[in-house]
Amino acid sequence: MKRKIGLLILCCLLGMTGCNQTIEGNIPTVTPFTEVTDVPTPTEEPEISATLTPTEVPGETAILTPAATPETMATPEPTITPMPTSTPKPTAIPEPTATPVPTVTVAVANRKIIAIDPGHQAKGNYGKEPVGPGATEQKTKVSSGTQGVFTKVPEHVFTLEFSLRLRDELAAMGYEVVMTRETAEVDISNIERAEVANHAEADIYIRIHADGIDNEAVNGISVLYPSENNPYVAELSADSKRLAQAVLDEMCEATGAKKRGIIKRDDLSGTNWAKMPVILIEAGFMTNAEEDRKLQDPEYQTKLVQGIVEGIEEYFKE
Ligand SMILES: [Zn+2]
Repeated sequence: MKRKIGLLILCCLLGMTGCNQTIEGNIPTVTPFTEVTDVPTPTEEPEISATLTPTEVPGETAILTPAATPETMATPEPTITPMPTSTPKPTAIPEPTATPVPTVTVAVANRKIIAIDPGHQAKGNYGKEPVGPGATEQKTKVSSGTQGVFTKVPEHVFTLEFSLRLRDELAAMGYEVVMTRETAEVDISNIERAEVANHAEADIYIRIHADGIDNEAVNGISVLYPSENNPYVAELSADSKRLAQAVLDEMCEATGAKKRGIIKRDDLSGTNWAKMPVILIEAGFMTNAEEDRKLQDPEYQTKLVQGIVEGIEEYFKE
């Protein structure tokens, strides 16, 4: 009997160490995903070294497992008495294990695929490509974009930082997110970006941009979509329009930004090559000093992201 209890405790202890290890292993893997580009290396490195230090300072992860097993094996057999010591510990297990499980279940339940294109890239490519499938008209592969008049931040930097926030928020809600780019140093044309979304068989394609114009007073948000007369993707117009309106409304409600409206645009190759409902969000004017500053404000970005997410949720609900 005592032996059995001893074995039980042993199993408990082993089970716990196993659990704790997986939990510790899980948390860091999730966190870097969320914050890779926003907050760089400093935040992640201390976490990793912290996990290793308590168990065995010099060792690597591989050395930890064999070292731990003999110790635990040896202790339980003689020490059958410490029943009380083992009882409080199990309380620690259900808490961490319970939290991650529901998140995963939700994630699988409403899994839609969302492709996000952070507009532009570090260096524009002024080569040409057809504006739509079968078109003779050619357009620039990918332009360099606008720039903040006050912050001097280039549009491609804003679109990437912002898109990564949007990616993380959507992923946290259980959506599968596909990014056309996750760094600045790429050379991907607007057609190639649409092909990323097509290849992923995304349910919707969200293109992120910021506006620029020769008038510093102009500000506000607009969302572009293909018209019902678009020569290439007319069949996507109705759904794209519905998505554009939902996203615009929610973004403006979340931020209080000026609502410039949804706008039909049939001259955008990145839109015309898409095979799913597609919108291009002009999140604000970088040529307006106040809006330029706001676009760089993490709190304002969070509100914008929240608006887009709510708009997407609304779109999928209908
Ligand atoms: Zn742009």
